[in-house]
Amino acid sequence: MVQMATKTTTITESDMLQQETYLSKDDQKEQVTTDYDGEKSQFPVSKQEIIWTNVVFITLLHVLSVYCFCNYFFSTKWQTYVWSFLVGGIGGFGVTGGAHRYFTHRSFKAKLPLQLILILCYTVSGQNNIPDWVRDHRVHHKFSETDADPHNANRGFFFSHVGWLMQRKHPEVYRKGKTIDMSDINNDPLVQFHTKHFFLFKMLFCFIIPVLISVYALNENWVEAISSLAVVRYVLNLNFTWSVNSVAHIWGSKPYDKRIQPAQNVVVSIVAMGEGWHNYHHVFPWDYRAAELGGYLLNTTTLWLDLFAAIGWAYDLKTPPKHLVQQRAVNHGDGSWRQEPETAHTRDYKTS
Ligand SMILES: [Zn+2]
Ligand SMILES: [Zn+2]
Repeated sequence: MVQMATKTTTITESDMLQQETYLSKDDQKEQVTTDYDGEKSQFPVSKQEIIWTNVVFITLLHVLSVYCFCNYFFSTKWQTYVWSFLVGGIGGFGVTGGAHRYFTHRSFKAKLPLQLILILCYTVSGQNNIPDWVRDHRVHHKFSETDADPHNANRGFFFSHVGWLMQRKHPEVYRKGKTIDMSDINNDPLVQFHTKHFFLFKMLFCFIIPVLISVYALNENWVEAISSLAVVRYVLNLNFTWSVNSVAHIWGSKPYDKRIQPAQNVVVSIVAMGEGWHNYHHVFPWDYRAAELGGYLLNTTTLWLDLFAAIGWAYDLKTPPKHLVQQRAVNHGDGSWRQEPETAHTRDYKTS
């Protein structure tokens, strides 16, 4: 597949220390000098309160999605499947390119039209509001696999996948969460406006509009439209995102750093539009590609970001110099790292 050349910003080794993730000056100091303080929390995880309404809602939603899939699989029009796939892709890109790579990691800058597109696409995914998503993810990166990690993968597949949404957060998540710099999000008028009207936007763009288009533009029956777009597509969108926190923190190789749990998982990269290169991502979280290898086919988020960069709506896309990636892989990887033959895509950050 042809790779596009995009204008990128090369990050130096000293920059890297400053940009482990999007952290405040104090956070950076703390991370460089002490990292996680290693205090063993006195609060046993068994005491975390279960949120029964979430347990019931999430369980019923999944049961309903299986029921809908089995009952309406053959009566749904192929046009509705195509539309559901598109809506799923739009929501997926909103999570990966929007909430994750733009709002959480600030791995590139976006002009207003792209900011609007990212926030709109994110709304289609039907997840939590942006400030909650960003705080959860920043604290996840900074305190991975500790009690302060909202979806600590050391607590098993189920907890890191969905169980963490069925319980009150561990007190360490709140305590350490307060050390995360959220000033960029709190001062972003677009995010604030979106958060203020979040419920309305979520209902409209995640459920109502996709179903109405299916019924009135594609002539689909109401039941089939609701089943495929508002139930099955929504549940798949959620599970594909959750798989990054669970599957990609449990199974896969560790070419860049074998000392951490996040791993490279190609299946997650397919369903989560390029977010499965998770060992790389936790080492270089500010790289807008969230991956070194894979090309556009296994990283469709990067394809879209490069397209937006080509028209100037995305700019200052950050990537590390190739020798830094190689150095990290040689020093700390599990030996599975292989240098990719040079392509236009890998050449970008060498020449920019
Ligand atoms: Zn992770
Ligand atoms: Zn991340």
